[in-house]
Amino acid sequence: MFRSARLKLASLYLVIIMTISIFFSFFIYNTTLVEVERVLKHQAVEFYAARGLIPPPPNFIQINPDLLIEARRQIVLRLLTINLIILGISGGIGYILSGKTLAPIEAMVDQQKRFISDASHELRTPLTALKSELEVNLRDKELTPQRAKEILMSNLEEVNNLQMLSDNLLRLTQYEDARGWDFVKVSLQKVIADAWVKVAPLANQRQIAFESSVKNEYTIGDAFSLTELFMILFDNAIKYSPKKSTVRVSAKAHDASMKLFVSDEGIGIPQENIPHIFDRFYRSDSSRSKHSVTGYGLGLSIAQKIIRLHKGSISVDSTIGRGTTFTLKLPHVKEA
Ligand code: ADP
Repeated sequence: MFRSARLKLASLYLVIIMTISIFFSFFIYNTTLVEVERVLKHQAVEFYAARGLIPPPPNFIQINPDLLIEARRQIVLRLLTINLIILGISGGIGYILSGKTLAPIEAMVDQQKRFISDASHELRTPLTALKSELEVNLRDKELTPQRAKEILMSNLEEVNNLQMLSDNLLRLTQYEDARGWDFVKVSLQKVIADAWVKVAPLANQRQIAFESSVKNEYTIGDAFSLTELFMILFDNAIKYSPKKSTVRVSAKAHDASMKLFVSDEGIGIPQENIPHIFDRFYRSDSSRSKHSVTGYGLGLSIAQKIIRLHKGSISVDSTIGRGTTFTLKLPHVKEA
């Protein structure tokens, strides 16, 4: 598809360049011919003058038609050669340029295709499980009301997970650009407090404590998405930490930028998995097997998108069995 589009675009470039070139060739042909006639007539006048004769008026001077034909032939030949060279060069350049023009579009389409296939794959697995559970139980003639209720509850859990997946997928596409965002001075103390309030029920369940030393630190950004960013990091910190541990947040401000550290005392991330944790749908094996926690591997890719839209960066430092620290780099604004 992109090969034919590239050829079409290259041909379009060629048509534009050749139209301009042919237009100028006609112009050059006409002006050169007028100039040749003028020079020939001037030569004739000089010829008369050299012999002491009075030259006839320019309109009456006869030019040798063979000379004019030869001049025309030479001009046409040169213009044709020039046009052929332009055709060859612009054909090549047009092909290269159209490739360069289409490359980002091709990359975007590929990315979208991958996204759709990843998303449908993730959706298919829980849907198939849900469907077969329903089918098997519908065929069961001895299904008791008590068992039916249990099945409905388990189905509801699956549906909730699916809803979470579709919400996350939607968010991932929403954070492609910062359209509709309000970039204002945002208090990080408030953002962090708001985010913790949202995850507090989960933290309380696991008796996980929270400590933040972030006080009067401000950034320029969108408060809503920054809250979501901290929610993702806190949610992970809680999910992947043992009961009764602590999640800590601290900050280190410089002039134009600042660093925020979100640390937990959890299971840690194996070094070999660190380069992949920001990939869509990536879940490290340890989080799948040893700890049966919910998630579709979308949280950190959403977090990364949010931080990039704030012209910041996110990195991670982790030690197995000791804990993980996510470092966020954001623009820093002074308090006043
Ligand atoms: P998930 O929905 O699986 O939490 P994320 O994109 O948020 O998806 O995280 C990707 C993977 O990174 C997780 O599956 C987990 O293996 C790892 N991870 C993220 N945060 C932590 C953390 N605080 N401690 C340990 N592992 C983490």
